[in-house]
Amino acid sequence: MSELFQEEVTWFADILLPVPIAKLFTYRVPRHLSQEVQIGSRVIVEFGRGRVLTGVVGKIHENPPQGYPAKYITEVLDPAPIVTETQLWLFQWIADYYMCAVGEVFQVALPSGLKVTSESRMEWNPNFDRPDRLEEAEQPLVQALQEKPFLTYPEAQQLVPAGQLNALLKALVAKQAIILYEEVKERYSPKKVRKLRLASVYTQVQAAMELLDQLNKHPKQQAVLHAILQEIGIHRLSDGQEGIPKADFLARHDLSKSALQTLVDKGILESYEAIIPRFPKPTQEDTSEVGLTSAQAIAYTEILGHFQEKDVVLLHGITGSGKTEVYIRLIQEVLASGAQVLFMLPEIALTTQIVTRLQKVFGTSVGVYHSKFSDNERVEVYRQVLNDELSFVVGVRSSIFLPFSRLGLIIVDEEHETSYKQFDPAPRYHARDVAIMMAHKLGAKVVLGSATPSLESYQQGLQGKYGLVSLTERYGEAKLPRIQLVDMRAERKNKTIKNDFSSVFLDQIRLNLAGGGQTLIFQNRRGYAPYIQCEVCQWIQECPRCAVSMTYHLRSQELVCHYCGHTDKPPRKCPACASSQVKTAGVGTEKIEDDLQVFFPSARIQRMDLDTTRSRHAYQTMLHEFEQGAVDILVGTQMISKGLDFDLVRLVGIFDADRMIHFPDFRAAERAFQMLTQVAGRAGRRSNEGLVLIQTKNPNHPLLKKVVEHDYLGFFDQEIQERQAFHYPPFTRVIELTIKHPDFLLAEKMAERLARALKGILGDQRVLGPEKGLIEKIRNKFIFVLWVKLEKDRAQIQLAKQSIQEQMDDVLQDRAFRQGQIIVDVDAY
Ligand code: ADP
Ligand code: ZN
Ligand code: ZN
Repeated sequence: MSELFQEEVTWFADILLPVPIAKLFTYRVPRHLSQEVQIGSRVIVEFGRGRVLTGVVGKIHENPPQGYPAKYITEVLDPAPIVTETQLWLFQWIADYYMCAVGEVFQVALPSGLKVTSESRMEWNPNFDRPDRLEEAEQPLVQALQEKPFLTYPEAQQLVPAGQLNALLKALVAKQAIILYEEVKERYSPKKVRKLRLASVYTQVQAAMELLDQLNKHPKQQAVLHAILQEIGIHRLSDGQEGIPKADFLARHDLSKSALQTLVDKGILESYEAIIPRFPKPTQEDTSEVGLTSAQAIAYTEILGHFQEKDVVLLHGITGSGKTEVYIRLIQEVLASGAQVLFMLPEIALTTQIVTRLQKVFGTSVGVYHSKFSDNERVEVYRQVLNDELSFVVGVRSSIFLPFSRLGLIIVDEEHETSYKQFDPAPRYHARDVAIMMAHKLGAKVVLGSATPSLESYQQGLQGKYGLVSLTERYGEAKLPRIQLVDMRAERKNKTIKNDFSSVFLDQIRLNLAGGGQTLIFQNRRGYAPYIQCEVCQWIQECPRCAVSMTYHLRSQELVCHYCGHTDKPPRKCPACASSQVKTAGVGTEKIEDDLQVFFPSARIQRMDLDTTRSRHAYQTMLHEFEQGAVDILVGTQMISKGLDFDLVRLVGIFDADRMIHFPDFRAAERAFQMLTQVAGRAGRRSNEGLVLIQTKNPNHPLLKKVVEHDYLGFFDQEIQERQAFHYPPFTRVIELTIKHPDFLLAEKMAERLARALKGILGDQRVLGPEKGLIEKIRNKFIFVLWVKLEKDRAQIQLAKQSIQEQMDDVLQDRAFRQGQIIVDVDAY
């Protein structure tokens, strides 16, 4: 062997793969790719037999793996890394903190459009009409795709020379000849619009003017062409120009449609389908500065002041105080300094109104990142952030995984919202807490905003760890609404209840209708009735797979399990006693909608819940109709409780407060207070005074009293004492362990063994349970729960997590529990 050859180093790369195994996988770097394989590069590797996965390079080194020969990396997908070192650091932090595999973090972090797996498929685009644009090298794929309905990634790999597939696919996608999608995911269906543009031979000024002359004899066609040239701007003609939406064009001008068609037929105009973004960008930026009110200006200045010493500020602003205006001013400031901004929202439902507001101010420079967007759109935002083409992103919890590099500010709006916590699957992370970590890493500041801050955040504020700033009055003339409790026991005694509606409720709705105001009715249960029951023997229809009653849905005439989705036809007769007295019981949103329509036949009633908002634009459409005043009463679940800002809502009715308060969970009181205050906050957001009615059987409950008095601080003081007395967060950290097994006894045994082991190590007082799950069985698995409570000491928590992991592994390795499962949820919500 020559000296030279011996010196050549063989490189290995540790690859992060989207699999739930807590390690990176070592692959060999082929010589010809040694330049391209960098930390953060996206690569394709074979994983197991015939399985193709996309991974990201986490580490490059010279150490071959022990005990097995490393496979080669198959391909490098991009010319430059696609994951930053900060992201790699953050993924690992999340994996360690939330006790999951780093591959699981990677799995949710990268938009699936950036992942190529063996499930990825490609399909011929039936609307593709430019075969002249296809290249020779693309032919094998093109032919195969025209013969078969789709190809998988490995199939496509067989058809083209090694290492070329990715470039070919990219080109075909760019030409819109093929569609790439994930088999398991919703199919990508681009939103299209027909557009017009001038054929490229006429896109020189000279040629266009000559053409216009030639059409002298055809005045109608000339008029069309004239209008087109005017809209494009004759000096902006160029090949590859942006087309003009045809329908809008025709609507703006009084032109002959047939003349337009003739121009298309003659090849002068091209009519084509274009994919348009979901969120149409407003053409006009609203540069008019909103003046902050003096209270808002003070809050703004205080926030900047705190930022001199603190990284996080909590903005506690009552509903309608104009937190958004304060955010906007901060964002302007940070963007002007050249840094990036991330604005986080708890969920899709909230985005519509706020995004519209932000786009009015920031125009096209806002990127929107959320889960109802298609893969392609998310990939677009991801890449724009990576390439530093986008400085401002509004997004839901997963936007925390975007590849920011110059981040200056993260705003977490409605920071108390539970949807910032991912429940299932792993990583079970809390996006607010991850945001604070990431900001710290990148030297950015954080504003947490809420009318009802989480106990955790408010406590940090009081202790001076976060800056604490408050806005205590509503914007303009608006006052906080008057909140009134409706005593359902008294109404029952007086026999004034109709179909679970109190007389107070019905009277106020009637009054509000007569006065032209809008009403929101909140009931956090969808469907018609939460259960059906035999009146003779009390039998209740339960889900065969879960220990819960099945909800009756009137529209679809079905019983549905809200935990596993199982459906059934409602029985005609009681299966237990054969009586035909099987009745619905309890009240869901469908029933409220129906009852109200009977009470108020001429009212325009709309329902907003999971069932009516499944389609992609339903939510937006409904909000729009409501805003336009086309709806008098909106009935809904928690979807209507947040963020909505409507002028005409004078009355808010909360149908049943009791169920919220009596939920057996240490956070139940906090959640109930937040939910009630937020729903109430939708009323009277303009000058008219608003009224909120809450139906309850416990009008003396202390929590309800605090809600009525708009007394967050009073609530906080009361609740924080309870938390301290019982050693709950924010005084401790809670790790929840959920044990599942298809056999009840084995589930119980598993849970007991784990509990015993952990109590032995951590002490009896730190381990609670096991208890049966709140719902004992879901999807045919029995559930037991354990809670580990740990004092807030980082080193101790780290050790405890290690022990928990070891004990879990130990239990799961026991063959007796083969079918068992243990789920860890750190900082469970
Ligand atoms: P919050 O998020 O605190 O509940 P919003 O930011 O939605 O409140 O503001 C409530 C309403 O008051 C919105 O319609 C908003 O446009 C209006 N508003 C608040 N501050 C101002 C301001 N300084 N100038 C004009 N309108 C404002
Ligand atoms: Zn019966
Ligand atoms: Zn079920």
